[in-house]
Amino acid sequence: MKHSNISIFIPHLGCPFNCIFCDQYKITGSDCSVTPLDVYNLLEKAADDKKLLNSNTQIAFFGGSFTAIDKNLMIDYLKAANEFIGDNMFDSIRISTRPDCINNDILETLSIYNVKTIELGIQSFDDQVLAASKRGYSSKTAQDSCVLISESGFELGLQMMCGLPCDTEQKDLYTAERIIRLNCKQVRIYPVIVIKGTKLCQMYQAGEYIPLSLKQAVDTCAKLYSLFRQNDVTILKMGLHSSSDNVAGPFHPAFGELVRSRVFYNTIVKELSKSRQYIVRVSPDFMSIAVGNSKINLSQFKNEGYDIKIIPDPKINKENYIIE
Ligand code: SF4
Repeated sequence: MKHSNISIFIPHLGCPFNCIFCDQYKITGSDCSVTPLDVYNLLEKAADDKKLLNSNTQIAFFGGSFTAIDKNLMIDYLKAANEFIGDNMFDSIRISTRPDCINNDILETLSIYNVKTIELGIQSFDDQVLAASKRGYSSKTAQDSCVLISESGFELGLQMMCGLPCDTEQKDLYTAERIIRLNCKQVRIYPVIVIKGTKLCQMYQAGEYIPLSLKQAVDTCAKLYSLFRQNDVTILKMGLHSSSDNVAGPFHPAFGELVRSRVFYNTIVKELSKSRQYIVRVSPDFMSIAVGNSKINLSQFKNEGYDIKIIPDPKINKENYIIE
């Protein structure tokens, strides 16, 4: 059954400080604080949509550090959401938070109110990257937190970033491998975008930080995507949405598609030789990914010396292909 979220943004609520790359007001496009009554009213309205009820829909609190909110306020949010969980209602609650804001007491509270999924913004499993990004916790804290969440019976989701200060592609692949070893089944991958007003923006303007190029970010994310897919990890999202506050970095409105196109290129090219012509058949729905944005894959095949035509074939499903 297809999963969906009713997202409630609580920008920066609970965050002990602003991480150098983050401005949730700009990232989420939400600039107001939401009260528990607002949550109740929003969900009452959402519950009118019968399609969402009885489906795999979660009520999701995003954009802050949910478990670091004042405990009474956190419980009030949970109580408001929990009114809408059950038979003929929404499935469960999902929250996102920091790895250093998880302990047994918090997990016990979350379980009382039907929280099923906890997403941790770990960003990296490399201590140098965490320190340079002033995240305020170590990779050991992140690891312990992930284990505690899983052992306590919650679904674990992880968010990672690429292109943070001191980061490398090798470190990103290492982070992905650690995520896989933790048996985490849901990830979000965010290449770093420099957002106006952040500490990272000051570093960028002072020449102390160089963001990834779009090509670097796509190449790295394509490797992460393949690694996660091979290990049955669902990629919930890649890249941030468009904002006029993006100052620099590998932003593209269809970033996820660029990555999937790159994955297709990397997969196909391994099966080709330069000495003959090929026809590659793909599903009509997959044509735009196979050909690539602005036909980038076709150009790249040609530039690399491959003679290849990609054609739509309604008999082919999803991301499958036939090479002739
Ligand atoms: S990255 Fe997470 S913890 Fe840091 S300021 Fe943003 S929402 Fe808060």
